[in-house]
Amino acid sequence: WIARDAAAVWHPFTQHATWTADDPTVVERAEGPWLIDVDGRRHLDGVSSLWTTTLGHGHPEINAAIAAQLAKLDHSTFLGTTHTPGIELSEALIALAPKSDDPELTKVFYAGDGSSAVEAALKIAYQYSAQTGHPRSRFVRLEHAYHGDTLGAVAVGGHELFHEAYRPLLLETIGVPSPGDRALGPDRGAVADARLRSVMGEHGDQVCAIIVEPMVQGAAGMLDYDAEFLRTARELAYATGALLIFDEVATGFGRTGRMWAAEHAGVVPDLLVCGKGITGGYLPLSAVLAAEHVYEAFLSRPGDRAPRTFFHGHTYTANPLCCAAALANLRVMGEQDVVGQAARLGERLGKLLEPVAAKDGVVEVRRLGTMIGVEVAPVGDRTGFRVCQAARDRGVWLRPLSDTVVLMPPLTLGETETEFLVDALDAAIDEVCA
Ligand code: PMP
Repeated sequence: WIARDAAAVWHPFTQHATWTADDPTVVERAEGPWLIDVDGRRHLDGVSSLWTTTLGHGHPEINAAIAAQLAKLDHSTFLGTTHTPGIELSEALIALAPKSDDPELTKVFYAGDGSSAVEAALKIAYQYSAQTGHPRSRFVRLEHAYHGDTLGAVAVGGHELFHEAYRPLLLETIGVPSPGDRALGPDRGAVADARLRSVMGEHGDQVCAIIVEPMVQGAAGMLDYDAEFLRTARELAYATGALLIFDEVATGFGRTGRMWAAEHAGVVPDLLVCGKGITGGYLPLSAVLAAEHVYEAFLSRPGDRAPRTFFHGHTYTANPLCCAAALANLRVMGEQDVVGQAARLGERLGKLLEPVAAKDGVVEVRRLGTMIGVEVAPVGDRTGFRVCQAARDRGVWLRPLSDTVVLMPPLTLGETETEFLVDALDAAIDEVCA
């Protein structure tokens, strides 16, 4: 299988020379939190297959919902026509959305993955500014942010390496230090806050939107930060007429111990982007939840010189199978209080990781709910990568983000598997960092 893969497959981000393991695992099946390879070995999916499988693999209710939908309607375009699962899911997402009187999240726009939903949100923000009579073209972003790999998402990300690769093609952005950046010291929240205030003071009238991952920058290595920064962003967006975009692709659907990370801060954005956990990892789907005032700017009026249409939408937008999977996932989440389970699992992991955090080779354990980063001190090259290799040898899959080892297990992980995961990490750190 590995030779055939090498001959025919071009993997995302990865070339064979930089596989996350010397002998990549070839996955064939999965059940619950376990991935099973072609040789029958079981691997605990400690990162929920890139942060998606919140209920684990092979959940009977989601499987049944997809099968039932398949028997009724496989696909039908959402352009100029509609379908029942698309309507039902929109209502369910609006009911779940974080609440405030203003802005009020009332409309759902679908996309296929996190990046394309971010892309849609950026285009909405740009067009919104033009259609409300104040054309603006700059975006405020945080350093270290990851919002995806389409060109707009790369532009508002905080990775110089990616910017360098595509610079002439990128949108115009203004970077603000991250309130979660440990290199800024204990006053990092205040430093970021002051910088955001000065940027918005100086350039606010040119800014379409401020975009942030609320409460924790996941792909940056789980850089959690104080809610105060989000309140400042909300206040400044109001004051300048910019939109506020929360990218909850990683943090949404219970991952942080609340349905949305926004709830930790009591702040509601104008556009909320979500993906990953929306279908419980079963099928690709993402969405932008939009405020009513934003949607209204896209309704044509008498006397308009050009239509106010949002020029965006794909062949598989709101595919009925994906919508049915998401509806089943949200139903199970509600019935089984999965958000409460996530909060309790996070607490349990936090407790079990206390002795790990106290080890000499560990710089810091960061956690918000079940988004966890264990930063190890470098010992030679690629320490985080080698810790993940050593955990993999013990049957647990984790993900290195530089020297931070990321844990994002299914939200419903059982007691025994939780201990198995932490024991494997503990032993892996001893092996590599001692
Ligand atoms: N935004 C955030 C916060 C993410 O963590 C990710 C993926 N890690 C994305 C956007 C991009 O999502 P996708 O990979 O589904 O395009």
